[in-house]
Amino acid sequence: MEYEAVIGLETHVQLKTKSKMWCGCANAFGAPPNTNVCPVCLGLPGVLPVANDEALRLTALTGLLLNCTVAHSAKFDRKNYFYPDMPKNYQITQYDRPSTMNGSVGFEFAGRMAHVRITRAHLEEDVGKNFHFERNSGVDFNRAGVPLMEIVSEPDITDADMAYDYLNALKSILIYGGVSDCDMEKGMVRCDVNVSVRPKGQKELGAKIEIKNMNSFSGVRRALEYEIPRQIEVLTKGGRLSQETRRWDDVGCITETMRTKEQAHDYRYFPEPDLMPFVPSAQWLEEVRGRVVELPLAKKQRFMTAYQLPASDAETFVNDATLGQYFEKIAAQSKNPKSVANWVINNLRAKLTEAQTTLSDLKFKPADILELIDLVESGRISTRIAQEVFSETFATGEPPGQIVQKKGLAQVSDSAVVEKFCDDAIAANPRSAEDFRAGKAAALNFLKGQVMKLSKGKANPNLVGEILERKLKQSPNT
Ligand SMILES: [Zn+2]
Repeated sequence: MEYEAVIGLETHVQLKTKSKMWCGCANAFGAPPNTNVCPVCLGLPGVLPVANDEALRLTALTGLLLNCTVAHSAKFDRKNYFYPDMPKNYQITQYDRPSTMNGSVGFEFAGRMAHVRITRAHLEEDVGKNFHFERNSGVDFNRAGVPLMEIVSEPDITDADMAYDYLNALKSILIYGGVSDCDMEKGMVRCDVNVSVRPKGQKELGAKIEIKNMNSFSGVRRALEYEIPRQIEVLTKGGRLSQETRRWDDVGCITETMRTKEQAHDYRYFPEPDLMPFVPSAQWLEEVRGRVVELPLAKKQRFMTAYQLPASDAETFVNDATLGQYFEKIAAQSKNPKSVANWVINNLRAKLTEAQTTLSDLKFKPADILELIDLVESGRISTRIAQEVFSETFATGEPPGQIVQKKGLAQVSDSAVVEKFCDDAIAANPRSAEDFRAGKAAALNFLKGQVMKLSKGKANPNLVGEILERKLKQSPNT
């Protein structure tokens, strides 16, 4: 019998706000333990939460970016549970009336467009962090109360690679929208994976197994690559699977039981009595709508059609949005956007890395790249000289045309002059000339190189090729 996997993901994302969800404490990573805390986020008695408006806006914005409906009335609920990293002993979340729901994410997967439906994106708060030392444990509450958004997908994902690509697509949308920095190293994105298997063609879902607290996308992929065959093996051997929560052991590369259905939490949700339902005004929604940005995939497709770029170039500009912006500024004024892309990606980007600087600190003007392309396309300088000129423009900010003039770098296309260089090269390398006449085509390239050397790279390479070939085909004694 053939089996198929059914996967849904719950992705938790820390929102990019200055302060926490219910208090004015800083939402900042890396501060000394328990320095960004106050009576509200420590859950002391007698305090009242005040919702962070920016967090509400970022959640609504996410809804719009994920094609969700933004609720006209959303509500907060208490989810009760008892862990030392949860000072209030409950988490404020959204249970039955989330901020946004019913959307979808489209992304490229295995050479086609894939769509994963989004059940909901709701707002809640992060918990603190436990640390275990040799003889004792500690809790850092800096993270407690940081705005956290949970994005729940429908079980539309069918394998480990698709889960990985979905997560990356989601991440780039959230970064583009300015919703979250999604820095995995800082734990800004975490994932719960729901996975079951069923005989192919069967409608009902198999026993739902949840893998909790994944903190890397590649970990999610590895866990699914282990878990799906494990479940199939249990069933093919005649065993039964039942609903449970498992944990992924990234060192052992296995999943193991954390708790079964009998040990599942009873969260005893009830409406949060300290917060009114959130009813956004038309103006508020309009302002959020104004923050909707072009999504990465749409941008990639636009770059490919508007500028005739190959997919790889378009992807480079999608992944490095500021570089993409810079490219667009120049490409808009150019007849040859592909040349602009080549200069920006191959030369400028390399120089930026080499000099450890950024686009905002460039010494030259974007129009200088256009000038450089013009110098090459009009045959005034060779591509090799153009690299030299660009290095200097990059270092000093001097316009390319000026450098070419000052240093006498213009390409030599005067055939009498080029002919002289060719004669000299042939005379200095009689063996190579003989080799070429004997049929060794490679000898021509060597001689071309010699001519370029003699002309200090300034001879027009096409002219050099023509003249050399003509001269070598003549008999040596005529
Ligand atoms: Zn606080």
